Amino acid sequence: MVAKPLKPNSPSSLFESKQPHGTGRIGSRRQDSNIKAVTSGDTPYTSASTFEELNLSPELLKGVYVEMKFEKPSKIQAISLPMILNPPFKDLIAQAHNGSGKTTCFTLGMLSRVDPKLKAPQAFCICPTRELAIQNLEVLRKMGKYTGITSECGVPMDHIPIHQRPPIMAQVVIGTLGTIKSWMSTKKLGVSFLKILVFDEADHMLAEDGFKGESLYIMENIKKISSHCQVLLFSATFNDVVKNFTSMVVNDDHNQLFIKKEELSLESVKQYKVNVPDEFAKVMVVKDRIFEFGERVGQTIIFVRTRNSATMLHRSLADLGYDCTTIQGALRQEDRDKIVKEFKDGLTQVLISTDLLARGFDQQQVNLVINYDLPVKHDNRTAPDCEVYLHRIGRAGRFGCKGAVFNLLCGETDNMIMSKIESHFGTKVTEVPDWRSEDDFKAALRSAGLL
Ligand code: AMP
Repeated sequence: MVAKPLKPNSPSSLFESKQPHGTGRIGSRRQDSNIKAVTSGDTPYTSASTFEELNLSPELLKGVYVEMKFEKPSKIQAISLPMILNPPFKDLIAQAHNGSGKTTCFTLGMLSRVDPKLKAPQAFCICPTRELAIQNLEVLRKMGKYTGITSECGVPMDHIPIHQRPPIMAQVVIGTLGTIKSWMSTKKLGVSFLKILVFDEADHMLAEDGFKGESLYIMENIKKISSHCQVLLFSATFNDVVKNFTSMVVNDDHNQLFIKKEELSLESVKQYKVNVPDEFAKVMVVKDRIFEFGERVGQTIIFVRTRNSATMLHRSLADLGYDCTTIQGALRQEDRDKIVKEFKDGLTQVLISTDLLARGFDQQQVNLVINYDLPVKHDNRTAPDCEVYLHRIGRAGRFGCKGAVFNLLCGETDNMIMSKIESHFGTKVTEVPDWRSEDDFKAALRSAGLL
């Protein structure tokens, strides 16, 4: 049995990695942190400090350096990629901070495992929204530009009935659960050559109030035909219920990377709360502060709880002469795509969104996030949804960029929800003393490093 500790300079002190049923654990503790750098069973994994160490093909390396312009792997990439890319290609459940580079982990995983000469679907990535599927596909195509690997996007398209589609020939398929499931059940998408199956935002995909049933359908059907298919489950959040459940859907002999919830908040994103007396004051804060300073500090996403609240805020701002765009699930698919594209191209500065964009949406220019409504559980409006909170604030501060979040609190219930979120993550959210004070907002933005 060989067991090699991860290189001491690379892994984050925030990661805990373990193989639940392995026999060959080595714990390497540093005095200054609670790091548990643990090797996996009989398989030695060495953290990669360069992309070369990962034995990527020259075409893939070119994509990483020339197209993506990456210089070296991020912490999660350094730790997880050796686990993903080395035989025996064990399943992996991996938690990574928002914006820390997890897309690259599974994208390089898929591109490396695909045999370019075999013209058949070999890798699937399943995402919770069409926006995330499209975004992930764009990353894959850019990174894999020199590999010749083919890919297809499996998202709902209004105009193509399923029976009119030819069978899917692409080597990588990235899409939403509903579309992939329907392609599989109508036998348009074969799984006989599948080597790697990724679930992005896996906690949501496997949550009881998420897409658990459909995700299991896909997993079970794949495992029946391709029993050696490697499963990767990635997310920034895994609550205890989902965490326990995920271990049951992957092979016993899998690897895990988890982060303590107290260490999940991004240090680069400053969190603020602003008490306002009423709904009118909320609109005034957005108009006078966010529109005022937002443009100077980058782009802004304003999160609201419902489609209706998105429409109302949009209308109030438009009535006051302020321009912004709004995205929510009831819009036509083409309109959703257009709104996202305009925002990504920097043509719009402020985007109002329901939780449709709470997860995974990657736009480095987003420095401000506004929780116009706090995230709450669907079935209990007084209980915070801490996972969604973390995902929302993770839209700012991508890959270490500076960011700020303003939580607008109106009344006692909001304050109670906010304090539950604070105690959940063990963080103190700073109060902006006066919602009418320009100086207070300036000071907050300055302290976040944005002004
Ligand atoms: P992700 O967490 O995968 O959404 O990535 C967040 C952002 O970090 C994206 O804009 C990536 O392009 C960027 N990124 C990911 N990995 C690296 C890397 N190794 N070096 C520089 N930027 C990276």
